[in-house]
Amino acid sequence: MAKKDYYEILGVSKTADEREIKKAYKRLAMKYHPDRNQDKGAEILFKQIKEAYEILTNDQKRAAYDKYGDAAFEQNRMEEGNGADFSDIFGDVFGDIFGGSRRQRAARGIDLRYNIVLSLEEAVRGVTKEIRIPTLEECNICHGNGIKPGKSPTTCPTCHGQGQVQMRQGFFSVQQTCPHCHGRGQIISDPCNKCQGHGRVKKSKTLSVKIPSGVDTGDRIRLTGEGEAGEHGAPPGDLYVQVQLQAHPIFEREGNNLHCEVPINFAMAALGGEIEVPTLNGRVKLKIPAETQTAKVFRLRDQGIRSVRDGSQGELLCRIVVETPVKLNDRQKKLFKELETSFNSPSGDKNSPRSKSFFDSVKNFFGELAD
Ligand SMILES: [Zn+2]
Ligand SMILES: [Zn+2]
Repeated sequence: MAKKDYYEILGVSKTADEREIKKAYKRLAMKYHPDRNQDKGAEILFKQIKEAYEILTNDQKRAAYDKYGDAAFEQNRMEEGNGADFSDIFGDVFGDIFGGSRRQRAARGIDLRYNIVLSLEEAVRGVTKEIRIPTLEECNICHGNGIKPGKSPTTCPTCHGQGQVQMRQGFFSVQQTCPHCHGRGQIISDPCNKCQGHGRVKKSKTLSVKIPSGVDTGDRIRLTGEGEAGEHGAPPGDLYVQVQLQAHPIFEREGNNLHCEVPINFAMAALGGEIEVPTLNGRVKLKIPAETQTAKVFRLRDQGIRSVRDGSQGELLCRIVVETPVKLNDRQKKLFKELETSFNSPSGDKNSPRSKSFFDSVKNFFGELAD
């Protein structure tokens, strides 16, 4: 590594005291800080300036440097790595200086969110809804600038139109956003009567929102520019209408598919037949084959939801539940008794293959344990 003269880098004499070194550092840092100076060379220079400053303001390091030259710090530098690190103890101070040096731009209005609750049918078909939202709107008297019509803003007396003021912070003089005009450089001495100089007025507005078909819980519809008006004529924010679906008594939605449970009676399950199932487009007939078991799912293509994103069509999935008969009358009980007797006959096993295989397994299980 080339020999460095830290005194030369900072442009101070070998006998310079701490105050002089700090002053030199500040002046150079203002010139070469990468936030200020985009030249590639400036960054390298700034690192050297910082290094020189750190060493010359540390009594021990300065003494070592005076005695051994920059070789005294070779080892140190290797350990610390060569990555540029500007977020040092002066980062905060420079953050103020460099971050705040630009004139502040008036803030864009904030985005608003409106939660809309839709029925499944509305979400599936699409709907236009009127919504009423409280918001801030641009004042129609001053058109957002907050100034009484015919008057002009005056230059801020605190910062003289700069938007920035000098503040002492330790040994640095730091520029800060002017607390009087908040960085705008101008103040309103004749505020608009309607908005008291804010440029915005509270209002509740009614909007007509077109909800596309196929939306689901969590989907958002953005209405550009329908959020709050910006301050002092800045552009407004956006309004996000967030969809939430109500629970449906029959259908449960899962993505673009619909699920529904369809109970059938015991005889229908055994003998088969035809039932009517609900869809979003009305009732449709569904053939139940003989020997249908609980949990059997029938898929009805094209009876789900058409995706709002890619237009693909979901399905309706009907899950069969075989209902055990209740409140039997004497005749029905008698018939079931007869049925039960026939199930218990030697040939009855084949009527209930699942029960048979289950109880066979149970028998084997306990038989093995006994061995
Ligand atoms: Zn106004
Ligand atoms: Zn000011």
